[in-house]
Amino acid sequence: MDLLTGLLLALYMSFALGTFFLVCVSDTSNAGILGKISLFVEEDIPGYISIVVRTIFGKQCHAYCRDSYDYIVHERNPLLQLLYLFILNGAYISWLLYGQKHLSTMYLVSDIHAYIAFIFIMLCHFSFYLACKTSPGVITNESLNKFNYQPYDDILFEKNNICKSCNIEKPARSKHCSLCNHCVPLFDHHCVWLNQCVGELNYKYFLLFLLTHVVFFAYASYVLTLMLVSEIYDPKIELMKRTFSIAGTNETVRGDKLHVILNYLLSKYTGIVVLFLLVFSMFLAIAGFFLYHLYLIAIGQTSNETYKWAAVKRTYKKMLHNYKTYQASGNRNEAGPSNAIKYEGDDDNHVGCVPSEGPSNSVDTFTPPSDPGEFPPNIYNKGFYNNLCSVIFPHSQRKVASPVKNRKNTKRKQT
Ligand SMILES: [Zn+2]
Ligand SMILES: [Zn+2]
Repeated sequence: MDLLTGLLLALYMSFALGTFFLVCVSDTSNAGILGKISLFVEEDIPGYISIVVRTIFGKQCHAYCRDSYDYIVHERNPLLQLLYLFILNGAYISWLLYGQKHLSTMYLVSDIHAYIAFIFIMLCHFSFYLACKTSPGVITNESLNKFNYQPYDDILFEKNNICKSCNIEKPARSKHCSLCNHCVPLFDHHCVWLNQCVGELNYKYFLLFLLTHVVFFAYASYVLTLMLVSEIYDPKIELMKRTFSIAGTNETVRGDKLHVILNYLLSKYTGIVVLFLLVFSMFLAIAGFFLYHLYLIAIGQTSNETYKWAAVKRTYKKMLHNYKTYQASGNRNEAGPSNAIKYEGDDDNHVGCVPSEGPSNSVDTFTPPSDPGEFPPNIYNKGFYNNLCSVIFPHSQRKVASPVKNRKNTKRKQT
């Protein structure tokens, strides 16, 4: 592989990782450093690009670019699915062209990895197909009973909440997706890589998709590392005992120095080194995302609910701060803990979190801040094992699935 191809692959890798950041990591609502980076990437950079395009290419070109951006970012489209296939197959084709041919000649590896890599690629495609083609579940009048089995916690989800777009009651933990234009049970997020939502029925396939790629990229990183290490420890080559002359000068250096070895490997096996950087970066990114979803399962939350809980937490801290400040100033509110923190807002839009009782903004109707009490528990967290079982065997697909009301009635009849 020549230097130009290596540079193009490196650029391609940066582009793929950048897209991954935008899709899976970026969070503009985050108050910390992640939020600042996300705002810079999602708002500042496009703003600068917009100014440059308008200045250099004119209004018409600017309008065309803006429409294209809206289509890519704000509408359902298969572009990122195609990008995924391009990345995966591009990496595999690069492997076939520049890596696989060395398997039979290198010291620590053998041809068996050619077959294993092929099986992994097939598994990656299969898991991608399952995740893309399995519906997350769609809440309609007909399916409402099937998906309406979760109790309402009266914090994030309240009863009798009607979706304005579907005109259907929203079951607890569901959300309307404006891109798919329907309500999704146990909504996690809309995944642009799959071009559909991740919800109750396809969450397990989404996790399988991530797991398959984590294992594949870990395996690929291991094999590529073995190939590079082979060159160092191959007794026929004895790289560390050899001497090298530096191009352009007559200086000679021994091969037992790290920078000499790295230079040698990079110039002789550019393709393998670049491929290693690509798959190892992908491994780190996807493994991080997969672990994050395992964490979400462990705490019994969906991605959607983490945003809501973060908002609840902010409000709770504010209420607690107001209450403590009020008490510290010598005032007393004799009312007991209110335990009234809850979530209010339109699920279709940005959801705000406001205390149902507590300090008022109005000077005329000032009410003393009340004790917010203990932070409310997440009633949907049943422990890691049970949460994982619910992911693998969705409640709505079990034969015993029935609405909450019916379950209560059944219990009464039995007792
Ligand atoms: Zn809806
Ligand atoms: Zn969606």
